[in-house]
Amino acid sequence: MKFDPAKAIQRLEQFGEFGGVNPSITDSSTFTFLGTETMEGTFHGETQGCFLYSRHWNPTNKYLSDALAAMEGTEAGWVTASGMAAITNAILQLCNSGDHLVSSVTTYGGTFAFLKNYLPKFNISVTFVDPTDLEAIENAIQPNTKVIYTETMTNPLLQISDIPAMADIANKHGVKLMVDNTFTPMIVAPFKLGAHIVVYSMTKFINGKNDCVAGAICASQEFIEALIDVNNGTSMLLGPVLDPMRSSSILKNLNTLHIRMKQHSSNAMYLAEKFTEIGLKVSYPGLKSHRGHELLNKIMNPKFGYGGLIAIDLKTSVMANKLMEMMQDKGVGYLAVSLGYFRTLFSNSGKSTSSEVPEDVQKGMGLSEGLVRFSVGLDNDIEDTYQTIKSCLKELKFI
Ligand SMILES: *Cc1c(COP(=O)(O)O)cnc(C)c1O
Repeated sequence: MKFDPAKAIQRLEQFGEFGGVNPSITDSSTFTFLGTETMEGTFHGETQGCFLYSRHWNPTNKYLSDALAAMEGTEAGWVTASGMAAITNAILQLCNSGDHLVSSVTTYGGTFAFLKNYLPKFNISVTFVDPTDLEAIENAIQPNTKVIYTETMTNPLLQISDIPAMADIANKHGVKLMVDNTFTPMIVAPFKLGAHIVVYSMTKFINGKNDCVAGAICASQEFIEALIDVNNGTSMLLGPVLDPMRSSSILKNLNTLHIRMKQHSSNAMYLAEKFTEIGLKVSYPGLKSHRGHELLNKIMNPKFGYGGLIAIDLKTSVMANKLMEMMQDKGVGYLAVSLGYFRTLFSNSGKSTSSEVPEDVQKGMGLSEGLVRFSVGLDNDIEDTYQTIKSCLKELKFI
């Protein structure tokens, strides 16, 4: 079953108030009603198409949410002020005090810190497992387990989660499978593969401009409605709402996501192959040598490539740091965390985006201190970029 998320977005008919080709921006926090009855009904979630207050719904956020739901093939979506808000709200909506989650050990650092350090406050426990070990996932399930949590492509080693198999385990035990698809929008459609809830940091590829922080939750209508229920919905009550001005600009960027993903992917593939040729230790799921290559082939949608992230092992953090500073000086890109930007970004994972993960856990998951993660940009001349990086490696006598 192959799905075309780009076509799903293209088919949407969203217009502005006066026939504008872009939906109008509604910069209002509150909304008027013609009568008291409609206001009461809207409060109780009974009136369709009416807006009450922008922490609940705003028309501009609704346009973006609808486009994201189309992209994922879910009934509904809801946009948040950050990726962490999407992740934490969806988890808190699914888990009560006394509940348990099974989570991949290689999640985004902030997610790991939330699961490990913050959830115990609410007496919610987590068992961390290797996301590629299906038996370990199933064995970790307890009677009070509510969620299996994973990332489609894990940071920074780019391992691939077997979403259909995880969904089978989740369904067998009556728990929800929640997937963070931040690294692979369009490339993989987790809901279509059986996941129940899909979350995003839109800060990354979806927006692609590094000009804001934002997130999204895509799921069933029932789940989204529960999330924003005025009496006990996690998002309605914690309030991490995205500003409608920002929703509007993200929606326009979403419409070029398919083209950007293709270019990120083909540039990353080029570098991964060239780096392999000169003997570097490369992690890229597009390479046959990568552990997740076959699996990704099986679950991915055609035409978007294998993603824009690659990791290379410089063995020591000293060498990694020297290379990154030199690459920045020579214009390869920027020494910065984050990803999915039009310019190449690089960082030393152990000391940055995975620094919330304790060193012994980092070692256990095979994270070398010299690992440099690249989020490959939209470079028009990737051969030139490669030659520049190669000259840096030579100057440092690494090759
Ligand atoms: C960045 C990121 C997050 C957190 O998103 P924010 O928008 O920074 O809150 C979560 N998951 C992954 C995989 C990320 O890369």
